[in-house]
Amino acid sequence: MGHTLDLLKLPAGWRTRFAPAPTGFLHLGHVVNAIYVWGMARAHDGRVVLRVEDHDQSRCRPEYERALLDDLDWLGFAPDEGPTDEYRAGANALRQSDNGWRYAAAITALELRGLVYTCQCSRGDIARVVGDRPNEEMRYPGTCRAAALAPDASLQRRVRLGDDPERFFDLLRGPQEQHPAAQCGDLLVRDRLGQWTYQFAVTVDDLDQRIDLVIRGEDLLASTGRQRALARLLGRRRPLHVMHHPLVRHADGAKLSKSAGDTGVRELRAQGDTAEAVIGRAAHAVGLQPTPAPCAAADVARFFA
Ligand code: GLU
Repeated sequence: MGHTLDLLKLPAGWRTRFAPAPTGFLHLGHVVNAIYVWGMARAHDGRVVLRVEDHDQSRCRPEYERALLDDLDWLGFAPDEGPTDEYRAGANALRQSDNGWRYAAAITALELRGLVYTCQCSRGDIARVVGDRPNEEMRYPGTCRAAALAPDASLQRRVRLGDDPERFFDLLRGPQEQHPAAQCGDLLVRDRLGQWTYQFAVTVDDLDQRIDLVIRGEDLLASTGRQRALARLLGRRRPLHVMHHPLVRHADGAKLSKSAGDTGVRELRAQGDTAEAVIGRAAHAVGLQPTPAPCAAADVARFFA
């Protein structure tokens, strides 16, 4: 990329994370993300934290978690910090389901400042007010904001977001401006099952784990503005840099899913592909190299040097 650390504005010893959800097996899309995460870290002296994002307990399975750690190991991507070591040390702080006390403490701090409220609106209730257009995010219209419902009226909790636009610089996509108040409205931080939401858990983790650079697929770009707003409310002062990379798509343009048999790391392994072949194919699929030439995990820094 031709950038120096100085140009990237990252502090010495900066940290990024690989944060898969164990809701399925790893596929080529995850391999692309791993190439960007490890490639940037190894090319520019960063550290990689492996975080297991199992906040949605209704969809996560221990066998997927074991498989993802195993596939990552097979590919050759070794984190500098992560649950594998943490388990041995008897602490599991890098797995979201072990982090509930941190999310509870963070919400209490916001509650004390009057920034959290109970919400009992269903999707249908919200759709009746703002409409439900296919492929468009529904903005929460603030129905329960002033209702002062007791916490036991519903498990759902929302955080009040201000109206200010969020401006930030994406290392691949340049200057960005987002308007969380118009895009999503007050953020759901706890759902009707009492589970912490993705947006909340990730924001608390990125703060606690001192993450400096978030590297993820461009499908999550819209999450960045709201996560920045929430992080500020949680007291984040350390700058959070972001990089949203292209996704691997099927020929028809559809996003890959974890059930995609043709691109699953397990299937490719079973067919006899080498880790280098899988990484080379993933790098080619998003234009990091002109051909699917094999590439070892230890060599991915060259795409970002
Ligand atoms: N856990 C998310 C996923 O597997 C990634 C979240 C993030 O990078 O912020 O897609």
